[in-house]
Amino acid sequence: MTQTKDVVKKFIASPYNISGIASGNTNYRNFVALLHLLLVKHKKKKCFVLFTEIVGLDKSLKICKKLKLPWNNLKMEYMEAPTRVSATIPEDLVGCIMEVSNLRTKWDAVVCSMDKSVIAKIMRQTQSGESFRRFGHEQMASIEEYPECCAVEFIDMKWNVIEICAEIVGKSEEEVALDPETEEWVEWAAEDLRQSFGYSAKLIAVATFVWTSPFPMNAGLDRLVGFSKHNQELFGEFKVATLENKQDMWNGGAETMRKYPFLTHRACKSCLENTKNSPSAMMNKIYSGFCKHEFPELHDAIIGAVDGTIAAFEKDLS
Ligand SMILES: [Zn+2]
Repeated sequence: MTQTKDVVKKFIASPYNISGIASGNTNYRNFVALLHLLLVKHKKKKCFVLFTEIVGLDKSLKICKKLKLPWNNLKMEYMEAPTRVSATIPEDLVGCIMEVSNLRTKWDAVVCSMDKSVIAKIMRQTQSGESFRRFGHEQMASIEEYPECCAVEFIDMKWNVIEICAEIVGKSEEEVALDPETEEWVEWAAEDLRQSFGYSAKLIAVATFVWTSPFPMNAGLDRLVGFSKHNQELFGEFKVATLENKQDMWNGGAETMRKYPFLTHRACKSCLENTKNSPSAMMNKIYSGFCKHEFPELHDAIIGAVDGTIAAFEKDLS
């Protein structure tokens, strides 16, 4: 294991992006991602997923090779939108949002595990489309063994925000206006979606707006700038109406970092309340214990980066 310890030491001294998630100017997320790779290596965790679209394939493979972790490249269609029926927005809009989200987020990923049969199974599932046609938060949660309570709440929270925005567009007199780049995209998507589902270009435009506006990640920031400029009024309404939900999501994220800094998932409200024996509390205890015992420097690096990460996000938010 001395070789692994060496890899860890070097990574702490000069870290690079392996988490795919920004954490202010700190390396908090990258350190936690490294811990999770080490947990996989020590068979304390089944799998870890690296999003190569964001992280870059070379970096994902570099760290896997250094840690001698078996890996495989997944071609998956990452669909963030949950497949659930909405009480407040029309069924065809829900369906269209899901198709749009799917078209916009085709992410590649590398999954690593010490159990090659687990990797093979996930490969089969993502490629054949038998077990899951699409790969989203739910599948991610199952692969990474997130507690179900946290996964369900996370999906619900994000979807609630989408629902609020869909309702606003539904009630508004304003029509969604398209900037040239988005218009081009909608035309392209319409060809595909009209044929397969019968969705009109207008519905696709609304779905795209509702899907991309509240979460810049869904659009790519540059695209969103054009879109929001053309729909300032609606965009402003979205912001006001979703403020509380987003604040809630943010607070939960910050509280998770404070209470359970060794987790990669966002803990749900019930897990955050019960810091003794909730699924997240117990998971954090195991991960932190392992880290402190095996890689004390990484343990300190993670703890040391928490405050700076929260402060950076608070600055971003204000
Ligand atoms: Zn939970």
